[in-house]
Amino acid sequence: MEAYIEQLLSQLTLEEKIGMIHGATLFRTAPVERLGIPSLCFSDGTMGVRGEYPDAEWRYLDNGDDLITYLPCASALASTWDRDLARELGRVLGAEARGRGKDVILAPGLNIKRMPLCGRNFEYLSEDPYLAGEMAAPLVQGIQSQDVAACAKHFAANSQETERLSVDSVVDRQTLEEIYFPAFRAAIEKGGLLTLMGAYNKLNGEHCCTSQTLLNDILRREWGYDGLIVSDWGGVHDTDAAAASALDVEMDVTYDFDGHFMADALLKKVRDGQIAEEVIDEKIRNILRLMLRLKMIGPNATARASGTYAAPEHRQTALEIARQGVVLLKNEKNILPLDPKKIKTLAVIGGNAVALHAFGGGSAELRALYEINPLLGIKKHLGGNVRVRYASGYGVPVAGARPEISWQASSTQSGAQRPKEPVLTQANIDEAVALAKESDAVIFVGGLNHDYDTEGLDRKDMVLPYGQDAVIEALLDARPDTVIVMIAGSPVEMPWLARAQSLVWSYYAGMEGGTALADVLFGKVSPNGRLAETFLKTAAQCPAKIDPIRAEYTEGTAVGYRYYNPTDTDVNFCFGHGLSYTHFAYDGLKIDDLCVSLRVKNVGNVRAKETVQLYIRDATAQRLRAFVQADLAPGEEKQIRFDLTDRDFSAYDTQKRGFTTVPGTYTIQIGASSRDIRLTGRVTITK
Ligand code: BGC
Repeated sequence: MEAYIEQLLSQLTLEEKIGMIHGATLFRTAPVERLGIPSLCFSDGTMGVRGEYPDAEWRYLDNGDDLITYLPCASALASTWDRDLARELGRVLGAEARGRGKDVILAPGLNIKRMPLCGRNFEYLSEDPYLAGEMAAPLVQGIQSQDVAACAKHFAANSQETERLSVDSVVDRQTLEEIYFPAFRAAIEKGGLLTLMGAYNKLNGEHCCTSQTLLNDILRREWGYDGLIVSDWGGVHDTDAAAASALDVEMDVTYDFDGHFMADALLKKVRDGQIAEEVIDEKIRNILRLMLRLKMIGPNATARASGTYAAPEHRQTALEIARQGVVLLKNEKNILPLDPKKIKTLAVIGGNAVALHAFGGGSAELRALYEINPLLGIKKHLGGNVRVRYASGYGVPVAGARPEISWQASSTQSGAQRPKEPVLTQANIDEAVALAKESDAVIFVGGLNHDYDTEGLDRKDMVLPYGQDAVIEALLDARPDTVIVMIAGSPVEMPWLARAQSLVWSYYAGMEGGTALADVLFGKVSPNGRLAETFLKTAAQCPAKIDPIRAEYTEGTAVGYRYYNPTDTDVNFCFGHGLSYTHFAYDGLKIDDLCVSLRVKNVGNVRAKETVQLYIRDATAQRLRAFVQADLAPGEEKQIRFDLTDRDFSAYDTQKRGFTTVPGTYTIQIGASSRDIRLTGRVTITK
């Protein structure tokens, strides 16, 4: 491979090389036709392949040939805790990207959810680095099985949208290694990641996209990463810094392609002898290596997978992941599942029962082939024997006509604004309450939408928008048995939680989200989802704060439950929580050296999956170190075994610049969540 690369490299002119290392269009680099080197073609995004743009305009082509499978968002996927589903989602995303003629799909988003207010949390997996890494690796493998490169983004410590192009994340090395790097490392070392995107923000004073420390020292030298590094769109600010860094390709949102920092300006500096051509050659090697690995060039070029998109089997995968990602947060008196045979009239209330979410969120926006909303999902599930009536309850913002020019044209300037909320009227509430009172069962579907879960903007607080709290309170007054469903990309305040008897959570769940939700509500499947993040009561409980200039990560490694659990923070729902329509019993814990085994049994009446979680607890911290899913029929029992290693008891040693085992006595916690610990044991680690 390397000989082939050198041979091609030797034939390239300087001008051709420069064309290959920056965007020649919004999503492509320049080809070198005389040598058979194609452009490198990128596309967003994390929930499916984004719509098609012309070369130099942020306006959708609108040919109707780019409608795709809309997949559940990363937060929904993470809630499944299912590595096989991560691989399946990847396989579909990769096949669709390849089917649309792409080489690199700009996914997955591997940033750790440091704060609940970050606008892009829906695109990220978890607050926990281990869970994020365990899901990231098979996801990357799935994508890349289709001869398309995954692009892990945004490296690194990109935890907020506020002033994202200039904010400086100030993070110590141990925190980076233990919290913000592991998912990227897992994607590289276990997933075989082929491309990676630098973040917009600075890290410890250096712009991530051109950071010597991050890209040259850590990624290339320490981790030995030999894949491609691409900038975020508009994340490069200086020609010399870009040339000297390990960045390979500069992309931007502007149409002035020759004006990119790695375009004419760099060409001139090389011609003038200010920058050595060898610096460019190194980038070209990485690009050609990627092209060979993707079978875009070279001896295997005729064997490249062709992919397909909007395929029926892809929709099945989307449905299965959506089902497994639904999280049952509360279910007093076993209100759920609802029995359709006992219902003649059903009231469905709330804007998110009819809202469509595919086309929103920033660069994750999609042109979905279709999208089943909850009302449609419920109606098609019940059929003609139940009378289902809908009331909005709160004013839904009707998705406006798509703007001519996309938000992305000006996305690198600060000052993004959220659309105004419509005003809630008492008439809306009265109509909903009247309908609720005369129905056999009531389902409220609320939450957020991509005016809130969006690139470029963080939320100010976790309060539900559009006056939903008032609607929910009024419904609970009239009908205490109202089933509450929240669809959102990040947690919300729930002042009515103590009064609600049941609560179902769904992240943006893709084109079959409504079908999956109905399957859970009416008991076709038992909910198997578990939270991959903590649901706080208010954002003020989070130790981290958004800072527009200098975001100091003073909480260190105490991120998510690693802070909330040891401090006994009074949260709504803890990390790992999720109920089922059955119950599971745990017993028989044995710890033999580092081998941990136990039995888990389904002691209820329906088939369901239990996610058995293993945490390691020491005096100061609790860390998830292993998990496994057991799919159990009623009465069925399974033996579970975890093989731990010394590495599971290690910490990053700044002096030694590596992970070292920390001797001591640790508690092994086996739990159904990070707080519902069912079995405990001890392990002593010696030097
Ligand atoms: C986003 C990236 C995205 C890129 C290309 C940027 O605004 O931060 O996640 O992949 O645009 O659309």
